[in-house]
Amino acid sequence: MAKKLAVLGSTGSIGTQTLDVVAGDPDSYEITGLAAGRNIRLLLEQARRFRPKLVSVATRELAEEIRPGLPPGTKAVYGEEGLIEAAAGSGADYAVCALVGSLGLKSTLAAIDAGLSIGLANKESLVAAGHIVTKRARDKGVTIYPIDSEHSAIFQCLNGEDGRAVKRLVITASGGSFRDRTRDELADVTVADALKHPNWSMGAKITIDSATMVNKGLEVIEAHWLFDLPYDRIDVLLHPESIVHSMVEFTDTSVIAQLGNPDMRVPIQYALTYPARKPSPASPLDLAKAGTLHFREMDFERYPCLRLAYEAGRAGGTAPAVFNAANEAAVARFLKGEIPFLAIETIIERMLREHRTIGDPDLETILSVDERTRAEAAVLR
Ligand code: MG
Repeated sequence: MAKKLAVLGSTGSIGTQTLDVVAGDPDSYEITGLAAGRNIRLLLEQARRFRPKLVSVATRELAEEIRPGLPPGTKAVYGEEGLIEAAAGSGADYAVCALVGSLGLKSTLAAIDAGLSIGLANKESLVAAGHIVTKRARDKGVTIYPIDSEHSAIFQCLNGEDGRAVKRLVITASGGSFRDRTRDELADVTVADALKHPNWSMGAKITIDSATMVNKGLEVIEAHWLFDLPYDRIDVLLHPESIVHSMVEFTDTSVIAQLGNPDMRVPIQYALTYPARKPSPASPLDLAKAGTLHFREMDFERYPCLRLAYEAGRAGGTAPAVFNAANEAAVARFLKGEIPFLAIETIIERMLREHRTIGDPDLETILSVDERTRAEAAVLR
């Protein structure tokens, strides 16, 4: 039977690659809902090709603009309500949650509440509200399949293993676009420099997050929630080639790693076909050709944002939401050319220092802390 999919964030990097996977195996999937923001040209193309029941866009104006071009039987909705309708009301049994940023949280929760299986690429939902998302999924009997390449790797390494035998997780990090520069050389890097990631093809925000190592910090917090392990058993290892996507060390000292060429379509497809494996358009790994793989210890002085992420994760409560919101606001300002690259980390650090962590926050508290942090970080000098 075809899997009925809602793709939230369909015009972004993960969304388009998800639809690539679907197009490669059309009998296995039916697209019921697509949610995008403002890229209605691409959304329209996707709607004509996949004929979903629902498409959701950012605003009422955009919904009116897109309506005349939609195929018969496709309805346009908009705003936060539209997004939630696309997640939970399109008749999907599986939601790919690939919105960027904390925008994804409410729609991820709506999909869980509706009992859909979740393919999670929106790491910010777990970072800001991991305790709520994971509890809600447990209560509803909903499975969260990781789409992030590192978490997909760990998920694959844990297949059939006893969780009690896990000693630690090792998340690999490429080091991002500036890995060969010193801190001094980072002072005046440009947006264009930052957007050149050496290995992965990704959206703008995550490419900047890779350069600051915020992305790895978000992934550490994400792993904490997905795999239910304390932070002192989650390590990060620099691995410039991005061939080993992550590893698990077991109590008997065995280490299981998952390898492959960097191609997001592999973890996306595995999240959709689990436990089955299917042929993929990704190029096969040729280790003889790769020759040498490098690993080195993570440098927390070179990448202070990773240290801040561990601190926020260990503090728990609202601290990770502050870490995430401060970063989102700072990255948006860097992308607009308002602040230099290194100001991203000083803004995150200051917002965390000034925040009084609230333990076990409810969703409303998280959302208001998120909003306040964003507003403050947007004007911080
Ligand atoms: Mg990743």
